[in-house]
Amino acid sequence: MSAKRTSKNVLLDTALKNFYSAAEEMRLDDSLVEVLSHSEKRLEVSIPVEMDDGTVKAFRGYRVQHSSAIGPSKGGIRFHPDVDVDECEALAMLMTWKCSLAGIPYGGGKGGISCDPQSMSTKERERMCRGFAARISPIIGTWRDVPAPDVNTGGQEMVWFMDTVSKLHGQVEPAVFTGKPISYWGSQGRTAATGYGAATCGLELLKVLGKDPKDVRVAVEGFGNVGSYAALKMAEAGAKVVAISNRSGVYYAPNGLDIKKAFDEAEANPRERLKGFTCEGCKKVDDILSVDCDLFFPCALEGVVNDKTADRIKAKWIVEGANGPVTPEGDAILNKKGILVVPDFLANSGGVIGSYFEWAQDLGGYFWTEEEYNNRLMHIMKGNFKLVWEYAQSKKINMRRAAFMAAIQRVADAVKLRGLFL
Ligand code: GLU
Repeated sequence: MSAKRTSKNVLLDTALKNFYSAAEEMRLDDSLVEVLSHSEKRLEVSIPVEMDDGTVKAFRGYRVQHSSAIGPSKGGIRFHPDVDVDECEALAMLMTWKCSLAGIPYGGGKGGISCDPQSMSTKERERMCRGFAARISPIIGTWRDVPAPDVNTGGQEMVWFMDTVSKLHGQVEPAVFTGKPISYWGSQGRTAATGYGAATCGLELLKVLGKDPKDVRVAVEGFGNVGSYAALKMAEAGAKVVAISNRSGVYYAPNGLDIKKAFDEAEANPRERLKGFTCEGCKKVDDILSVDCDLFFPCALEGVVNDKTADRIKAKWIVEGANGPVTPEGDAILNKKGILVVPDFLANSGGVIGSYFEWAQDLGGYFWTEEEYNNRLMHIMKGNFKLVWEYAQSKKINMRRAAFMAAIQRVADAVKLRGLFL
């Protein structure tokens, strides 16, 4: 085997380390290790945008396709000042494993623009989105690479992207992007899919552990699209959600928060989510990680549970709603403390499974009811949880390792069948 790749980017280095160590345990062929430790394409583009004050700013944008062995690459586009091509590559790799494990016909991709969307006007964001879609259009497509929302992007951005590609092609191209609004080729159920999927993993975990949700205290970090729906579903199942957090602070109530109220407040005020939230017995504390709880859902950005913070965790179980919230160093500490982790690419796969449903509906031009959508989603999530849980038990390994091994095997089988020139 040629030298192992490493990266100065923490996220990419973590993705590579996780891959190499799972590959070693599986005794994966050297040739397959070589193929899968590199991305098929890393595209960097410049997007000149006319700002409202008449000046022109060139934004850097990226799209990375890690693998198309199983099918078109699939993965979100994020807007954040820290986005770079290595981060996109790490997340693209994670998408390959996520789609493979989920059993859906996609490879992995990810993209983004280095920008601060909160400081831009709607018109500036629209011009930037349209410029980006035009720049990456030669490498994306229904059967090539299908982007979706990610951090700081949502339905509106997907419509600007899709509309630009449709205009370039001279025809409606609904299935090139997923995560679109229901009113324009999106599907009912997609918005809640990631959070509901993560909560389903939490509830399946409690089931195999023989715990009643009513006896379980839950904390949720991040109250955006993933965290808010995860908290809502856990509360609906009877669990006591004792803490939630977002940029505005950590809200804690030992007897349980009124999650429906928090959810409605966040929805009503999407830019300031939770800022004015108050409820009976609720107080603000400094740190969500050290909150006394049983089940913790990190649902915000990556790397929050690391070598410096993992020791503070009091929960017995963690369900990773975000991508990469636990670093390998953090993972080692959690393992030592006996904390069980349901890994991100299983726990948050509800989003991309939902994207697959949307893509299938767009291709067929036929839309399902929300009930059909949710039933199919829960069925797949429960099946995938069971697969990873049983594999981990039979091999006496943790769930992250089990999930990696199952996911890598399916991609490796596709590469073996198809050959090197994918
Ligand atoms: N951004 C989401 C993820 O990381 C969704 C990706 C998709 O639907 O393609 O899983």
